[in-house]
Order: sequence, then structure tokens, then C-alpha cells
Amino acid sequence: MQRKFCRLNRHPDPGACAAPAAGRRRQLQQLLIERHCALRHEWQLSQVLERNDDDLLPARLHAEEALVQVGLAFERMRGGAYGSCRGCGGVIDFQRLLALPTAERCWPCQQAVERRERADSQPRH
Ligand SMILES: [Zn+2]
Repeated sequence: MQRKFCRLNRHPDPGACAAPAAGRRRQLQQLLIERHCALRHEWQLSQVLERNDDDLLPARLHAEEALVQVGLAFERMRGGAYGSCRGCGGVIDFQRLLALPTAERCWPCQQAVERRERADSQPRH
């Protein structure tokens, strides 16, 4: 019997196609929009409150960085690349996207990247 493979990621399960089904995509889009609004709010607060407080700088930078991530996720959604892993090209698990809608990599690839980063930050002997 011939199996149908998803054109995007060679995955035999059409339900696991890299481009999430319309309902799921809407759900993820909504999550991204909510995240965007929350971050804008957080960022604006950090601008208004105690402008010169250095303690707020990490929070502000974090909000800015996170806003960039949300923007990139919207771009991937428009371009059709949303939901496929930057590392291996495979499918990012839907549950992972629900927890982290801006995820660019599947969990195994993300772990590999983090392991590499940790290794790089270790002093070499
Ligand atoms: Zn991957």
C-alpha cells in the first residue's frame, strides 16, 4: 500500500503536516496576538515607569526581544514556514507550539542547540 507523504516534511501522517490545519493555525495565531498585546503592554510599562531604573532594563530588553520573536513567528505564518523546524525541517509538535507559539525548532533540535551553546560557554581546557 502506498502511503501519502506530506510534501512539506516527508511525514507520513497528514495530521502532522508542518503547516498546521486551519483550526489549529487560528488557535496559534490567536495565542500570538495575545502574546503580542501582553508584550506591548509590558514594554510600554517599562518605558513609562521609572525610566532611569537600571533594574528594569533586563525586563525591557526581554520584552523587546520577545516582540521580535512574535513578529518573526507572524512572518513565518504568512510565508508558510510556520510550524516547521529550522534545524531539521521536521514538524514542531503542536503541544510545543501551544506552550511556545514562537518556537522555531522542534524539541530535540532546540535541546541540541542549547547543549551546543552551553558547551561553547564552557571554558576549554
Ligand atoms: Zn528539528
